[in-house]
Parts: sequence; structure tokens; C-alpha cells
Amino acid sequence: MSRKSLPERKDIPLELTWDLTLIYPDSDAWEKDFICLDELVKGFNAYRGKLSESAVILNDAIAALDNMERLLEKLYTYAHLKHDEDTAEPAAKSLENRASGKAAAISAECAWFEPELLAIDDKKMQSMLSEKVLAFYKPSIEELLRAKKHTLSEKEERILGALSDVLSSPAEIYESLTDADLRFPTVRRENKDKVELTSGNYIKFLESSDRKVRKHAFKAMFSSYKNIINSCASTMDGTVKKHVVSARLRNYPSALDKALFADELPRELYTNLIESVHRHIPELTEYLKFRKKKLKLKKLDMYDLYTPLAKRDEHVYTYKEAQETVLKAFEVMGEEYVATVKRAFAERWVDVMECRRKRSGAYSSGCYDTVPYLLLNFNGTLNDVFTLAHELGHSMHSYFSHKHQEYHYASYPIFAAEIASTTNELLLHDYLMKKYADDPAMQSTLLVHLIDEVRACIYRQTMFAEFELDIHELREKDVPLTADLLCENYYKLNDKYYGGAVKADDLIRYEWARIPHFYYNFYVFKYATGLSAAMKFAANILSGDASLKEKYYSFLKAGDSKNVLEILKDAGVDFINYPVVDDALKDFGKLVKQLKKVL
Ligand SMILES: [Zn+2]
Repeated sequence: MSRKSLPERKDIPLELTWDLTLIYPDSDAWEKDFICLDELVKGFNAYRGKLSESAVILNDAIAALDNMERLLEKLYTYAHLKHDEDTAEPAAKSLENRASGKAAAISAECAWFEPELLAIDDKKMQSMLSEKVLAFYKPSIEELLRAKKHTLSEKEERILGALSDVLSSPAEIYESLTDADLRFPTVRRENKDKVELTSGNYIKFLESSDRKVRKHAFKAMFSSYKNIINSCASTMDGTVKKHVVSARLRNYPSALDKALFADELPRELYTNLIESVHRHIPELTEYLKFRKKKLKLKKLDMYDLYTPLAKRDEHVYTYKEAQETVLKAFEVMGEEYVATVKRAFAERWVDVMECRRKRSGAYSSGCYDTVPYLLLNFNGTLNDVFTLAHELGHSMHSYFSHKHQEYHYASYPIFAAEIASTTNELLLHDYLMKKYADDPAMQSTLLVHLIDEVRACIYRQTMFAEFELDIHELREKDVPLTADLLCENYYKLNDKYYGGAVKADDLIRYEWARIPHFYYNFYVFKYATGLSAAMKFAANILSGDASLKEKYYSFLKAGDSKNVLEILKDAGVDFINYPVVDDALKDFGKLVKQLKKVL
């Protein structure tokens, strides 16, 4: 559908829009709560300077903080959802601005809380924590205290705080360099039309079945990065240096240890992931060799990895068909799950259609006092059906965690954020594989979809994770990260993962410069662990063993009630004592064998 033919929001049937009156009947009700918020802030700030007086006071202060944040989240959720319906609508835009402005002001005004809590003398704190009145908040306070040995004096913290903006300059320079200043040449499409290459349309070129088009786009992309590679090396070096120095200043053994501290993840989780993937490179090589054969190529290059091996599913799904399909796929989860998804449809938690000025993409969003809404831009492709299943996974995770946890422990940690969503995609995959058991074309489409997802999320992201670790360790030995060094390291790593089947164009050495995630401080490994966990959960659910399914529910219900690795372990995915990633990659090997049979 072209932009011009998009409908106006008012022309979309009501049943295909979300019902925000479930939060506030109208904006007057929002305004009333907005005024109440100020009272709650004042109430909380009255505890300033008093936290150490008694366990009762400390308990009341945290409860007051919770009440304030809880209302703020409700106000913000309504405002941002309203704004996303029509991003140009001034009234909603103003609500959104006021909510986010208020959030920033409150966070500055209430910044005294953590330092004051951490400053309480250890003995005094231990005696307060032993009192019954603090039992509920004890785990959460202990979580904060864990950071004490990495917290500096008030004066030092103030200095670092004032410098934090300055220290993010390298990342900001990288962003403006690559988003705003960097221009790519034009490349030829299949029909010989010339189009300007952009970061956004690059993948479309790589998906072309015309090899010349793919190669041309690849060369154009990385020659452009080659031209700015020294600047990219400087911004990368600056960012890595920032991570390393800040880990040293705060008494962490390394930058990686600092990055894993918040989720209490052990270093082995990260290094085991890399080792597991190394062990299973042969399965990747087997897939890539098969790809080369199927594409009838003499030599496989990095730009041959995205062109589809199987025909696309051309069927256009109506939204009703998509709903029925995911409901069928979720039947294996049992009645409560299906009933809740049906409720989401009936009570209009979903904003379905694309319309003018609506936020693009798809997400699940909400808070403790709202239902977990879903925003879609549904166009009827098979991918859109998978997106519906994915976002419903997020929403059901929120729904069950909110239902079974108190507000304070309800929101699940980032490490677990993509697991329920991906598990749903895998359940849908399994359902469709069975439904189309006699349709080899559809089977191969589905298999290639999943195989490429594992390749992209587990193999590729782990290669990124390994690169990230390598360059931080070099910096920790005070080795400057020059363009040559970064390119050489990246090229060798690429060869380690892909070299068994791919003869890579030399320009691939510049690829690291194109990945913004390297500025996120050890984030990408979560894609690999997330999909590995989801594969295990989906297998457990589909095994038919009711106790394994119950365990998965314990994950959905757990929110942030304890350490995330313990939540996962109790739910059946033990990252520390069990080869979760190895199992996922063994399954990858099986999928490849299956594909060979079908194609
Ligand atoms: Zn997601």
C-alpha cells in the first residue's frame, strides 16, 4: 500500500482500533490524575533526610515512591499511546510532552533517594532490614545495596554525573556521522532503475534474486564506510575507553563485569555462549554450503546470505484469519492463555491497521494499571501474522506478571524481555508446519524463515558479542583501537564463523562500522540467549508434558520477583548447568537437514 492511499484514522472501523477509554474515559480524567501526581511527589519528598530514622519510615518512603511512579506510568502510557495513534495531532502531542517532561522533572527532584539510602550505615541498615515491616521490600533494598561497593563518594558521583553528557559524545558523533552526514551512492535495481542506497533499503537489495544487484549494493555500502573508517574507529575507541575507564573507577574487574552487574549475570554466561557457538560452526557451514548449491553459485559471498531460498507465501491474510491462526497455534498453551488472547481481541487491546500519521512498526506497551496494549501496522503478510504472535507474547508476559506480582516486582527484566515473544513465534511456526505438512512450498518457506532467524540471532549476534569482548579486552590492556586493528579483528572473526563456506569480499572488514549496537555496551548477546531460551521453552510446551508447560507459566508470572537466571531455571531453562545454546544449535542442524529434504 502506498503512503498516499493510507486511510485517515477516523475512517478505520472502531473494532480495529484500541480502546484507550479503558485507561481514562476522556482527557479530563487524565488532567485530574496529572494534578494528583504533584501531591504524591510532595508526599514522597517529605521523607528526604529521614530514611535512616526507622524501618517504618523507610518502608513508607518506598511505598510512597511506588505510588508516585505507578501513577506516572499510567499517565505516560495513556499519553504516548494517544500520541502514537496520530503523531501529528497537537492535543495528544502536548499530553505526551507534558507526561515526559513531568517524568524528567520528577526524576531530577527525587534523585536524592538512592544516595541517601546507600549512605545509611551498614549496621543500622542490617538491623532495619531484620524488622518485619521491611520484609516486602527487603530483596529490593538488598539489590540496591549490592551496588554500594561500586558507588563513589557524593562529590565524585556529582562530578561523574556532570560529565556523563560529555562522555557520550563519541556515540553521538558516530550517530550524526552515519545517520546524517554519510551518503551512499545510487545502485541499480533489477529493472535497471537507479536508486539512492540508504541504511533502510539496503536489506531489500540484499534480498534481490539478481546477484549483480546484491553485489553492487554491498560494494556501495562498505566502500562508503571505508571512506569514513578512521572517524568510526575514533568514535568506537572513545566509547570502549569510556566503558573501560568507568569500570575501573567503579571497582569492577572489567567492562564486561560492569555491564552484567545490573542483571546479576555471571561472566561465564557470556563466555559460554561464545564457546557453544564455536562448537556448532559446522552446522552453520553445512547450511551455507547448501545455500551455495541451491543458488547455483561457484562461490558464496557475504551478500548471498539474504536472498530467499524458497518462494514467499503470497497469500494475503485478513486480520480475522490472522487472529484465528494465532489462536489455533496457542491452543497448546491451554485454556487460560487462549481465553486471555480472546479477551485482548474482544476488549480491543489491539490497534490493528496502518493509517495516516500513525506510529510505524509494532510494539506491546502498557503498565501495571492498564491492559498490555498492542500496536500493529497489519498488512496481511505471513510476516504480519508472526508479528501479531510476537507482540501477543510480550503482552501475555506483562498480563501474567502483572496479575501475579505486586507492582514493585511486576516488570520483567530486559534479559528476559524477548523470550515470551519469540516462544510464541515458535509455537506459530510449529502449528503452521503441521497444518501445511503436505505443502512442500509452504514448508520450505517456514523452514528458511526459522533457519535464517537462528543464523541472524544466534550466530551473527554472538559473533558481534565476541568482537565486542575482544575490543574491550584489548583496550583493557591499553591497546589503542585503530581502524586497521578493528578491521583486521573483524575480518578474522568473520572468517572464523563463515569461512567454512564463504569466500568473503574483502570489504566485509568494514562491517563493524555499520553496527550501532556496538555503542550499547554488551547488549547484543541477549538476542542469542533469548532465542536459545525460547527454543527450549517452545520444545517443552510442545512436548505435551503438562508439568513443563506449568513451569513455563511460572516464567510468565514471575515478573522481576527474583534473579532472572533463577526465574528461568525454575521455569525449565537452566543457563548455568545446562547447555541451552548447544541444544538450540543442534536443533538448527536438524532444521537444516529437514530443509534439505523438503527442497
Ligand atoms: Zn519483541
